[in-house]
Amino acid sequence: MARYAYVNGRYVDHRDASVHIEDRGYQLADGVYEVVGVRDGRLIDEKPHLDRLDRSLRELQIAWPVSRQALSFVIRELMRRNRLRDGLVYMQVTRGVARRDHAFPTTPVKPALVLTTKNTKHVGADTGPGISVKSQPDIRWERCDIKTVGLLPNVLAKQAARESGAYEAWLVDADGNVTEGASTNAWIVTPDGELVTRHTDNGILAGITRGTLKAIANDLQLKLVERPFTLAEAKRAKEAFISSATSFVTPVVKIDGEPVGDGKPGPTARRLREEYVRFADAGELVA
Ligand code: PLP
Repeated sequence: MARYAYVNGRYVDHRDASVHIEDRGYQLADGVYEVVGVRDGRLIDEKPHLDRLDRSLRELQIAWPVSRQALSFVIRELMRRNRLRDGLVYMQVTRGVARRDHAFPTTPVKPALVLTTKNTKHVGADTGPGISVKSQPDIRWERCDIKTVGLLPNVLAKQAARESGAYEAWLVDADGNVTEGASTNAWIVTPDGELVTRHTDNGILAGITRGTLKAIANDLQLKLVERPFTLAEAKRAKEAFISSATSFVTPVVKIDGEPVGDGKPGPTARRLREEYVRFADAGELVA
């Protein structure tokens, strides 16, 4: 079966999909992206993802390449063409194609829009055995709240983690606090049972999964605190986990080779994942 990508108005064979060499995303990382999770043919949290895309575009003064309704349509059409049941929809908007210059093009160009989908295996309420994380210095810029395609520090941190046998990197700022993962938000459960994740500001990406989990934690009457936590505190935590559109809630069972709690997925992460999957199952059936 052919796999399609959407590139600037056309559905094309994924293998032949391409953009111009002077696309500012390619040359200058001048663009933003979104990743929406799909489970059982249902889009998870489409609206907040598109709201965040809107915010990222506004922060960088990039216009919407098509209307929001048109984008929703393209997402669905691509899912249908690719028979996407489980996986993700990736969408990227760059400032467009222009002769290379750091400053914005003086004659306005049309922003470029690319969408792809990725199939993954079906995942459910079971957390699996959990993952290991490796700490890495957070060397990113001061606008981590914008979901830009400029991901080199994240790429290097993730690679360092993978080379050490860990799945994810946890980024640590100059004060010793864990900000977030290379592509996930970071959470711990303290020995007193507080659920902790770093507050949102310019230092981290306000994860959409993080936002949904906050609402779920509230419904479950968990004691949620949004504050910085150090790497040392994380290592002493009862539980730790990551969240993202593609990992949902995944327990962290080792940090820098040291077991977290009893070294097994904990009850809070398991419960939050169960509830998250229940929430995802209530979404709109698309493909
Ligand atoms: N933090 C970073 C740096 C990310 O790249 C991501 C997702 O890609 C997240 C957090 C999690 O965000 P979301 O839950 O919206 O997938």
